[in-house]
Amino acid sequence: MQPRVAVSACLVGHQVRHDGRMVDTELLIPELNSSVEIIPFCPEVEIGLGTPRPATRLVNRNGNTRLECTSESNRDLTQEMVKFAQLKSDFLISIQVSGIIFKQSSTSCGIDHVVVHQTDGVGKSQLNGQGMFTKIFTTLYPYIPVIDEGKLEKSSQTKNFLSRVKMMQKWWVMYDKGWTPDRVRTFHEENGMLIHHCNPDGFRKLKVLLDDYVEDEYNAETLAFNYITMAQKEMSILPSSIIMEDMTFNSIPQKRDLIAE
Ligand code: SF4
Repeated sequence: MQPRVAVSACLVGHQVRHDGRMVDTELLIPELNSSVEIIPFCPEVEIGLGTPRPATRLVNRNGNTRLECTSESNRDLTQEMVKFAQLKSDFLISIQVSGIIFKQSSTSCGIDHVVVHQTDGVGKSQLNGQGMFTKIFTTLYPYIPVIDEGKLEKSSQTKNFLSRVKMMQKWWVMYDKGWTPDRVRTFHEENGMLIHHCNPDGFRKLKVLLDDYVEDEYNAETLAFNYITMAQKEMSILPSSIIMEDMTFNSIPQKRDLIAE
């Protein structure tokens, strides 16, 4: 069975953007399309906003980031999106997604560098926001690998993402059998080389986690969740040589990406 990867629907040809325009789907590389089962989703359409619809934006109101329509008197969508994001995140976990590909810079789906406007235009907009859906998902389930389509343009990051997705799928297979301390150790033995290749320090930290485990303190399932959360985090830290290789013009958000999707 191929690993399941949820993808912002606008990246796979669904006409769900606020303006009904198509996104250039060539951004999803063939290697990825042929090696995973794609599960499309669109948070804004799924909370009941139609297409076409007013664009959305993130606004800082008294220190809280809100998701609002750019028309309809700045209709506040925050509560609807938070509620939906919690339910949808749980659903995606229930079908054992092994990764998510998000649309970059989107107010709902962006992973980072999303524009946050200041209340009533006072102060400069900041490029430090996270899409509202993505923020909820990554907080609830930090062990699921995520990437945006901008980073997929860089082959080293695509390879890293796919490695993490494959590891996650193996973890789900073990999860279905039920965790025992020995199964977590077996998982580490089978995936250790991959983790060591990405991040030798991370590999050592995981070994310490397993060596220090005392059965009386917490159960094997908690150990397995702690292990995969740490493993995914350590694997996401790419060596500086690869980061340098990836430092291209494309890694800087482009003007088109700064416009609320
Ligand atoms: S980026 Fe916008 S249009 Fe695309 S899936 Fe996310 S909410 Fe929907």
